[in-house]
Amino acid sequence: MLSRIIEDVQEKFNLNLREWVEEPNYAVRADLHIHPLAHKYYGNCDDLRDIILDEKDKKKIRKVIDWCIKVRGLGAIALTDHDMIQSSLYAAEHVKKQKLDIEIITGAECEVTDPEARISSMPIHLLCLGIKELPAYTRRTAVDKMIRLVHEMGGKAIMAHPIYYPETFCRYAYLLDGYEYENGGAGMAFTFGMSFLKTRVFDHKIKYYCNSDFHYELFLPRQPDELLCNEGWEGL
Ligand SMILES: [Zn+2]
Ligand SMILES: [Zn+2]
Repeated sequence: MLSRIIEDVQEKFNLNLREWVEEPNYAVRADLHIHPLAHKYYGNCDDLRDIILDEKDKKKIRKVIDWCIKVRGLGAIALTDHDMIQSSLYAAEHVKKQKLDIEIITGAECEVTDPEARISSMPIHLLCLGIKELPAYTRRTAVDKMIRLVHEMGGKAIMAHPIYYPETFCRYAYLLDGYEYENGGAGMAFTFGMSFLKTRVFDHKIKYYCNSDFHYELFLPRQPDELLCNEGWEGL
């Protein structure tokens, strides 16, 4: 389903934004990692399942969608608040109702763990996309199990900011549908590190994405911002 959405988006926006030198591929303007509600509800994921968005939350989400269309000129976005899917479900409903010219890919950024990791306290962040509800998981769920749960639900799992846990990334790369090559929140040093890390997973031929990891409450630029990496996405 998600692949089909992506293909539609690619067709619609007639991709010609950037050609990757290493692996020629055309990009569509998309951002698969945006936090419209920032850290407002960041906490225990079990407590987040029943959260009902209030009017202020909805207004923020609408504002972010509007900004992604009018300022950033994006064709597809995923609103991936931490461990909660409500923001993206509301966004999808709003866009459909208002017939807005943008594709919403539903999902969330889920925090899980790598029991094999030497620094076991480091949380692993997975962008779980193309699903309408979150799988049954907790912060102690193993990352490989979580990827499988997302796949069972027909979704895709993209590892967010892999540079923070390179060991885990390399260990489970073969299971992933994609990973973040650029992350606006982490900046250029991140991308530089990723250019090395990428060579370690090259054989798996996994897609990579350039996302903003934008936290709305910090700022809302009036102009497209290079750091927000709104170009360079290959599609799933
Ligand atoms: Zn994260
Ligand atoms: Zn994030």
